[in-house]
Amino acid sequence: MTVENVIIIGSGPAGFSAGVYTGRAQLNPLLITGNEIGGQVAITYEVENYPGFPEGLSGPEMVEKFQQQAQKFGTRIEYDYVNAVDFRQRPFTVKTQSGKTFQAKSVIVSTGATPRKLQVPGETELTGRGVSYCATCDGFFFRGKKVVVVGGGDSAIEEALFLTRFATEVSIIHRRDALRASKILQSRAFSNDKIKFIWNTVVAGINAGEGARPADRAGAVTGVTLKNVLTDEVTEFATDGIFIFIGHEPNGWMFEGQVEMEDGYIVTDRHTHTSVPGIFAAGEIQDNHFRQVATSVGQGVMAAMECEKYLAGLDETTDETPTGIAVPAELIPA
Ligand code: NAP
Repeated sequence: MTVENVIIIGSGPAGFSAGVYTGRAQLNPLLITGNEIGGQVAITYEVENYPGFPEGLSGPEMVEKFQQQAQKFGTRIEYDYVNAVDFRQRPFTVKTQSGKTFQAKSVIVSTGATPRKLQVPGETELTGRGVSYCATCDGFFFRGKKVVVVGGGDSAIEEALFLTRFATEVSIIHRRDALRASKILQSRAFSNDKIKFIWNTVVAGINAGEGARPADRAGAVTGVTLKNVLTDEVTEFATDGIFIFIGHEPNGWMFEGQVEMEDGYIVTDRHTHTSVPGIFAAGEIQDNHFRQVATSVGQGVMAAMECEKYLAGLDETTDETPTGIAVPAELIPA
C-alpha cells in the first residue's frame, strides 16, 4: 500500500489551508473531505470579517476559493468520511466510510465541529420540516412567515438578522437576559423592527400541526413550548419555524483513545502538535475558544509547517520519530 506523506482529514478553512501549504511544500497531500465540503463556512450566508475581503464574501464562494487554491498546489481530494484511525502504529492508518484504507507518515486533523442540538421533543422528527440549523440553506422557505431563533451568541444574532430578509417576525429566544454576541451585531439586532427578544426562556418542545406532510420543507412546525427559567411558567408560542444556534460539538469521536482529548476536543500545544508525534490538529477540533475562519486558517497553516518540519526530520530507514527540533549548529555554545 502507498504510504502518503500527509493525510489531511477535513475540508474546512483549516484543512484547505493545510492543503495549500503542504501542497506548496511538495508533499503531495491527500485531503479527505468529510460529509460536508467546507464545513460550517459552507452554510454561512456571508463572511464579512475575513481580512482582505472588505466587501465580504459568501460562505460557499469562500469554500470554492479555498478548494481551488489547495488543488492548484497539488492537494488531492478524496470525497469520503473518515470513521476510524490507528495512530498507535506507524505508518498511521486512516479508514473511511466507503471501506477504503489509507496509510500515512503524518496526519493533520481538521474535522471541525457541528451544530449542537437542543435535545427536546420534536427536534429530530421535525428537522428539515421547520427545524433548521442553517438560515442560509432554509431561510428562503420562510418567506412571509414567523420564525424563532434560539441562542444568544454571534451565530444566533447574525442568522436572525439574515432571516429578517424573509420572515415577517424573528423572535430570539435566549436562556439569559444578556447576549454574548459582539456589540456590533447586538446593536443591529436591537435596532431591527422585525426582531423581538424573549429573555430568560428555553425551548421545552417543538410542535407540529395535524396534517403536516413529511415532505413539507417548512410549514410542519406550528409552535414551540417555552419555559421561563426564572418563573418556571410554561407557555405555547406559535411559529412556523425554529432556527437553532446554540454552539457546536467537536467532530472527534473517531480519535478517542488515539490521541489525548478533553471534552471531545483534541489537545494540542500551541504549535498544533498532539500527544502523538506526526499527528497535528488545527481548527475547531482543537480550538473551542476563537473559532473564526481566520484563526482556523492560521492553525491549518501552522499544522502544515510543523508537519513539513516533522517529515523532514523523519529517519526514512527506520521510520523513527524525531525526538526534538534540531538546534542550528551556530546556536550551540562551544
Ligand atoms: P456560542 O458563542 O457558544 O453561543 C452559543 C449560544 O447558545 C449562547 O448564547 C448560549 O447561551 C446558548 N446556548 C448554549 N447551549 C444552550 C442550550 N442548551 N439551550 C439554550 N441556549 C443554549 O456559539 P456561536 O454563536 O455558534 O459562536 C461560536 C463561535 O463562532 C464564537 O466564538 C463566535 O464569536 C464565532 N462566530 C463569529 C461570527 C462573526 O464574527 N461574525 C459569526 C458566528 C460565530 P449563554 O450565552 O447563556 O451561554
